[in-house]
Amino acid sequence: MLTRVDGLAEELLDFLKGLTAIPTVNPPGECYPECAEFIGARLKDFGYEVQYVAAKGRPEHTAQHPRVNVVGALSDLPARPLLHFNGHFDVVPVGAGWTVDPFGGLVRDGKIYGRGTTDQKAGIAASIYAVEAIRRAGVQLHGCVEQSGTVDEESGGFAGVAYLAEHGFISRERTDYVIITEPLNVDRVCLGHRGVYWFEVVTHGRIAHGSMPFLGVSAISKMAGFITEMERRLGPKLGKLQTKMPVEPPGARYASVNINSITGGQPGAGIQTPCVADRCAAIFDRRFLIEESVEEVRAEIRGVLDELAGQDSEFRYDLSDLMTVLPVSTDPASALVKAMASAVRDVIGDEPPLIASPGTYDQKHVMRLGLVDQCIAYGPGILQLSHQPDEYCRIDHLMDGCKAMALAAMRLLGASGG
Ligand SMILES: [Zn+2]
Repeated sequence: MLTRVDGLAEELLDFLKGLTAIPTVNPPGECYPECAEFIGARLKDFGYEVQYVAAKGRPEHTAQHPRVNVVGALSDLPARPLLHFNGHFDVVPVGAGWTVDPFGGLVRDGKIYGRGTTDQKAGIAASIYAVEAIRRAGVQLHGCVEQSGTVDEESGGFAGVAYLAEHGFISRERTDYVIITEPLNVDRVCLGHRGVYWFEVVTHGRIAHGSMPFLGVSAISKMAGFITEMERRLGPKLGKLQTKMPVEPPGARYASVNINSITGGQPGAGIQTPCVADRCAAIFDRRFLIEESVEEVRAEIRGVLDELAGQDSEFRYDLSDLMTVLPVSTDPASALVKAMASAVRDVIGDEPPLIASPGTYDQKHVMRLGLVDQCIAYGPGILQLSHQPDEYCRIDHLMDGCKAMALAAMRLLGASGG
């Protein structure tokens, strides 16, 4: 099987080049139908029944930027067990600092360059060719394979994997295993991710002339009071809370809070505004652990705010939730993790570390909406290169990832012949 994958190297690289050339930049979500069709056409060639799933009813699915996903199912196999490979084909904006064409798919020194090569078009190409290698070898799988290419992972995945899970395409009623081909490094298997609580605090003041600030109430000073108090109370506590999940890098095994943004007062933009700020808004990003409950995490923030309001009649605030993602983790003893880990070991030679991701990705939708309990992330590509200028994927990683996926598919579904 491994030599069979090697024989497909040129075809696989060519397909990845074609994928990279489609600038599926998100935001705003460019060229999604074109990319879905590019993947769909290849799946059709390889014997899949292909469906295009537009995220009808989602506000981000517009005439200008349609949200179109593609799902393919190998039609001539037993329905269960079913292994679903998923990869997102949206890429983050190019950004500055590139020395090569971000959509050129340049191959040099054993690497393919381009925005989205690592994150994560290499993963999509690898899973499609892994299964194709099995078919070309004449090996009969004893279960079904599906492949999906989805949109919007970089912006939450609501029109992508969440939509597929809500509409029964990825569901415990029919799906046994899901491998998300995100780049967590080709020699590691990722079990899940931490939780996110994103919230906004707005403090209200009273406007007055800046020369007589004692006549007003500064919303910025009130925000400063909140941030100081929150850091004083949460800082020591979060620094001690450590998860049992094997999050990489280890610094991310602790709960944390980041101040994503803060804006207060009148929009100055270089112009003087001699006023006491009557409004200040800040957005916070609290990362929480599987050992914490989201209710506790929310209550902790509300507690700090209420206490400040209790001590100071001029402390007025609004708290709103922007996004909540619950942590997820697949059992390391599950069939999926065992099969993937043994496949990686047989290809790479070393036992792969089982890790968890500090940030979230579409696994939350598979497990929380689709209720599929065996889901992991595994794919070629180096995690740190995601979203960077001159992003690339090493071709040996692409091939190793493809081989490991082929072995894992055969072990999970059972295989004969060839
Ligand atoms: Zn990604």
